[in-house]
Amino acid sequence: MIPLSVPNISGNEWTYIKECLDTSWVSSVGSYVDKFEQSLCDFTGAKHAVSTVNGSAALHISMLLAGVEQNDYVIVPNITFIASVNTITYLKASPILMDVDKDTWQMDLDLLEEFLSTKTVIKDNACIHKETNRVIRCVMPVHVLGNMCNMKRLMQIANTFMIKVVEDATESLGSYYNNQHSGTFGLFGCISFNGNKIITTGGGGMILTNDEKLAKRAKHITTQAKSDSFEYIHDEIGYNYRLVNILAAMGVAQMEQLPKFLIRKEEVYNLYINSFNAINGFKEQIITDGVKQNNWLQTFVFPDSKDLMKKLTDEKIQVRPFWVPMNQLQMFNKEIYVSINDIAGSIYNTCVSIPCSTGITNQEVEKVISSILGFYK
Ligand SMILES: *Cc1c(COP(=O)(O)O)cnc(C)c1O
Repeated sequence: MIPLSVPNISGNEWTYIKECLDTSWVSSVGSYVDKFEQSLCDFTGAKHAVSTVNGSAALHISMLLAGVEQNDYVIVPNITFIASVNTITYLKASPILMDVDKDTWQMDLDLLEEFLSTKTVIKDNACIHKETNRVIRCVMPVHVLGNMCNMKRLMQIANTFMIKVVEDATESLGSYYNNQHSGTFGLFGCISFNGNKIITTGGGGMILTNDEKLAKRAKHITTQAKSDSFEYIHDEIGYNYRLVNILAAMGVAQMEQLPKFLIRKEEVYNLYINSFNAINGFKEQIITDGVKQNNWLQTFVFPDSKDLMKKLTDEKIQVRPFWVPMNQLQMFNKEIYVSINDIAGSIYNTCVSIPCSTGITNQEVEKVISSILGFYK
């Protein structure tokens, strides 16, 4: 089988993890946790990085520290992986689902701006949704598939309407807008090291922030909020959300290979694009002006996508449909969905993700290409 997107473990992973085992530094304190956090700061330019058990935990804590409370709203694109929206509900807040741009598949900023201009008022330095009288505390741009929206404009909109920005950068390690790394624009940015992401620790996440106080708070609250170095005194409700040293060791080894992974992702992407442009009705995600993307999960619009997926699966080529839009899921179908033409729904219906592991061989890429071209003959 040619898998969709699997880990590439070809560097110092074994050496660094063995060192953890040999020295018994396996848990949430250890030099690799610090090294991994530092390597994320070095790579992204963020001033602070706090590692977490996964990307979802990073989102949960970031929104908590951004001040999201019960009954607040958080604006999130209608096309995303479920974790973005689930974590909003962990804080007893609700999502406002924003439709996406038909070309870039990121949150539609025209729609966002229009919604905020017509449906909200500013009161006591907070953005109030007029109809429900609830506070819109946060907007969460999700850098879907490693692309980004116009972050300069998004930040301007958020500032105008006094809304905090928490970036879901879980898919966009290695993506930049105007040479600034994703996850470093908002108050917080969250990275994921889940098994299918561009680098992996099996499971893991990272909170990025430029605010020293908030970074300290993030570290504190993810380690059960213990406030005394000796006595078990805790000064607030905390979480056991820190990444363990063994996994951080794997992360350090993966970060060493990230530049190589990014190059390979781009090569594979170009091979695909050059071949598929001949297909009538084929479309690629349009990359926003100023964005350098990481080509994380290669997802394209193919005509007759359902039949194509069946054929590829039969030929042992792993494929995935896009995420079902959040407004179509039973937990969220009563939430506010801001949309004119339900672009999210039509993108979902036509998109297919195809194999793009960083370890994929050119021969495997050729097999995927000839199988897809064969389908349209
Ligand atoms: C992977 C992902 C997450 C969650 O990360 P985990 O590490 O799996 O918890 C959140 N949002 C999006 C868009 C993702 O792709």
